[in-house]
Amino acid sequence: MINISSLMTRKKRTMNKSELIAKAWEAREKAYCPYSQYKVGAALIGINGKVYTGCNIENASFGMTVCAERSAIFKMVSDGCLKFKALAVVSADDGDGAPCLACRQVMTEFCESWDTPVYSAGPNSVYEHPMKEICPLPFVAFEKDKD
Ligand SMILES: [Zn+2]
Repeated sequence: MINISSLMTRKKRTMNKSELIAKAWEAREKAYCPYSQYKVGAALIGINGKVYTGCNIENASFGMTVCAERSAIFKMVSDGCLKFKALAVVSADDGDGAPCLACRQVMTEFCESWDTPVYSAGPNSVYEHPMKEICPLPFVAFEKDKD
């Protein structure tokens, strides 16, 4: 017996910008920030199609704190995916809450291309920048196959 549904090709749906930002807001609720009370959430889409989320995780030794963007990227990498095709970061700020420079360096390592979009959002704003604008002169240890 043939299962008709197995013959149908399922088109893989890609998460849109608003949905990705909504995932970042959900992740923000898990922020561990007893020192700053500044919650940040992030969500990214790996080139494998999966969504990875992260939140800021503070530490009494402040230098050990990890930002939301990096915690999402580390989840992706530990899952075996090495590139993301979009990343969203959210906070309560309506200014351009763009990623810090440490995160930008890590994003440089794992973004799919220099055109990979980065969304930074507050409750009433969304900014969108390609990686090449956020990190115009990245440190790269070796030539990568980015455009
Ligand atoms: Zn950061």
